[in-house]
Amino acid sequence: MQAAPQPQPGILDIELYQGGASKVAGHDDVLKLSSNENPVGAPESARAAARAAAEAMHLYPNTDHAGLRAAIAEVHELDADRIICGVGSDEIIHLLCQAYVGPGDEVLYPQYGFLMYAISARAAGGTPVTAPERDRIVDVDAMLAAVTDRTRLVFLANPANPTATMLGGQDVVRLADGLPDGCLLVLDGAYAEFVEDFDGGLGLAEARENVFVTRTFSKMYGLGGLRVGWGYGARAIIDVLNRLRGPFNLSNVALAAAEAAMRDRDFADRCFAENAEQRDRLRAGLLSLGIACDPSSANFVLARFASEAEALACDAFLKSQGVIVRHPRSYGLPDCLRMTVGDVAGTTRLLDALAAWRAQT
Ligand SMILES: *Cc1c(COP(=O)(O)O)cnc(C)c1O
Repeated sequence: MQAAPQPQPGILDIELYQGGASKVAGHDDVLKLSSNENPVGAPESARAAARAAAEAMHLYPNTDHAGLRAAIAEVHELDADRIICGVGSDEIIHLLCQAYVGPGDEVLYPQYGFLMYAISARAAGGTPVTAPERDRIVDVDAMLAAVTDRTRLVFLANPANPTATMLGGQDVVRLADGLPDGCLLVLDGAYAEFVEDFDGGLGLAEARENVFVTRTFSKMYGLGGLRVGWGYGARAIIDVLNRLRGPFNLSNVALAAAEAAMRDRDFADRCFAENAEQRDRLRAGLLSLGIACDPSSANFVLARFASEAEALACDAFLKSQGVIVRHPRSYGLPDCLRMTVGDVAGTTRLLDALAAWRAQT
């Protein structure tokens, strides 16, 4: 019998991405705070648009995403021709690696960078490289020092996951300025909506050919299950990515829901305000229980414990109460727990559970 084919180099080095858990045995009222989802759910505007679009599920979707790109361009005051839409920003990250990275090429990102960067880099045959952070904040000098003549892409999530910290505009410009020709800075703005008066680097991408921005509908817009993200950059880059993109990558339902969500500014404003309020409450509660926690610029906080054992004990206790958070061991933060900011009731439940855990230790 003939042997099966071997996969391309790098593919078997990929470690499978683990999504946040969503079930606890014995609990039917689980509070899932492990995947940074919107506690409010999806906007009613998007759910109505999705229901209507589902009626036409026998028809192929359009391939140019014109309606969704127009909505994004209007809201963010961008050039619609420089927008690409993907199956989550994950697909945009993947397309960037496929397009610009090959065997021997390096993909650079910070020490605690998002796991998808390594997965997509390896899938393209490239080599992931990390630069140390300073107290869980990206260090621009360390990033620039790690750049080599093989570096093709530099990923920076700003705000970052799982640390929730962010870099100021001047630091980001310094990073972009310091990169050599032919190296693209990708600013992952998955959490940009949670920062007041922040464009997630879209202005930089507007002005510079070596900066690209990715955004998502999975967090603030509450559409994680539909898988819609987008990217913004130089026309030449958008042209390259569109050649790789599957023409029917986004379904009718996903396109309609995302367009409605983008135009629903009341929903976004409400979620922004509620997140800021509950995030302050959660962080203050953690600190008052003696649990360390950096200021957060996102819709989650990173709680730091005295040891890995203590983090795991707290994680187990929360689970016993039906509360699921994320233990970011795979990010090299074993003494931490990442907790998504919930709604008022969810934050109360989490804080009560944390207090009960503290009281019994
Ligand atoms: C959640 C997240 C994304 C979004 O991924 P989607 O594929 O759009 O759901 C991207 N980057 C980071 C850092 C994230 O945490």
